[in-house]
Amino acid sequence: MKIAILPGDGIGPEIVAQAVRVLEALRSDGLGFELEQGLLGGCAVDALGEPFPEATRRLVAAADAALLGAVGGPRYDALPRQMRPERGLLEIRKFLNLFANLRPAILYPELAAVSTLKPDIVAGMDILIVRELTGDIYFGEPRGIEWRDSQRVGFNTMIYNEAEIRRIARVAFQAAAKRNRKLCSVDKMNVLECTQLWRDVVTETGQAFPEVELSHMLVDNAAMQLVRNPRQFDVMVTGNMFGDILSDEASMLTGSIGMLPSASLDENNKGLYEPIHGSAPDLAGKDIANPLATILSVAMMLRYTFDQEEAAARIENAVRKVLADGYRTADIYETGTRKIGTEAMGAAVLANL
Ligand code: NAD
Repeated sequence: MKIAILPGDGIGPEIVAQAVRVLEALRSDGLGFELEQGLLGGCAVDALGEPFPEATRRLVAAADAALLGAVGGPRYDALPRQMRPERGLLEIRKFLNLFANLRPAILYPELAAVSTLKPDIVAGMDILIVRELTGDIYFGEPRGIEWRDSQRVGFNTMIYNEAEIRRIARVAFQAAAKRNRKLCSVDKMNVLECTQLWRDVVTETGQAFPEVELSHMLVDNAAMQLVRNPRQFDVMVTGNMFGDILSDEASMLTGSIGMLPSASLDENNKGLYEPIHGSAPDLAGKDIANPLATILSVAMMLRYTFDQEEAAARIENAVRKVLADGYRTADIYETGTRKIGTEAMGAAVLANL
């Protein structure tokens, strides 16, 4: 199992260091990892003059999975667009053909008070949103703004072909089969033909997964149900635009950006794993950032790329235990719990592994 380690910028190196400690502990218990570090983002611009350099391309092409911290920082904001760290992120996703974005929104019962929703609504919420990442209205042609009949008209094209829908549906069914076997597909088939096709192809794909209970929901209702009763959902699958909006809505219900991992997968479950947050330049170098989202990204990597469910669950249980024991980084701290730093949080997870 070859893993590319891309710490990136800002708090990236600090939080990735804690995740690497977890990987190394699992390695000493017998899992055969090979870890190799590379440069992505601002650190790559500093060292090699571009955000996604050739050496990193070779590294991630040869690896089975990559773990990324985060990229970006105010130092790079004045650079031309193609030199910006965030450009490296877009390029690596495109280079690896990562079409499936998996975003869990989990609210550990111990953290229910940090959500903006009432604890009895969100405590125990555990949703996985599977978002298609390379198609839909964000990439569809024709697109543009032009003059028609002496006024400006803006237009985009919502488009999916069957193969694109089928491959993301398959990822979602497989993920649901590894969880509580409930999949909700989100569309707007009452007004958009493109999403009528979406619904038809998801339903057809479901025939190969009889163990998964499939339901369909219109996107406006889904947005409402997420805040009304989020615990009704297990896995949700949707297109690029609806997924963009719903995954942010779901993750913010948890109130803790430092807790949420993500995975982006290609056709063969090769993946890029990263916390959903950015490089938090305000926290960099202070040993206060929360490393749990990055550590939980390692658990996703073990589950989705390496099929090591037991090791993934070990990490998740260790995180749960640390929270139950009352340890908190500053972002999730509340009175009555024990505030600790990045390093100490990594050590606490290791101690419970
Ligand atoms: P951010 O996610 O870095 O920070 C938002 C807020 O959350 C800040 O208050 C920050 O202190 C806090 N926060 C983030 N991660 C945390 C953690 N692990 N523990 C505790 N608190 C945490 O978003 P931003 O401030 O909008 O962006 C900062 C930089 O990150 C920008 O350069 C942006 O382009 C970049 N960015 C990168 C990615 C990525 O690499 N995937 C994603 C988003 C933003």
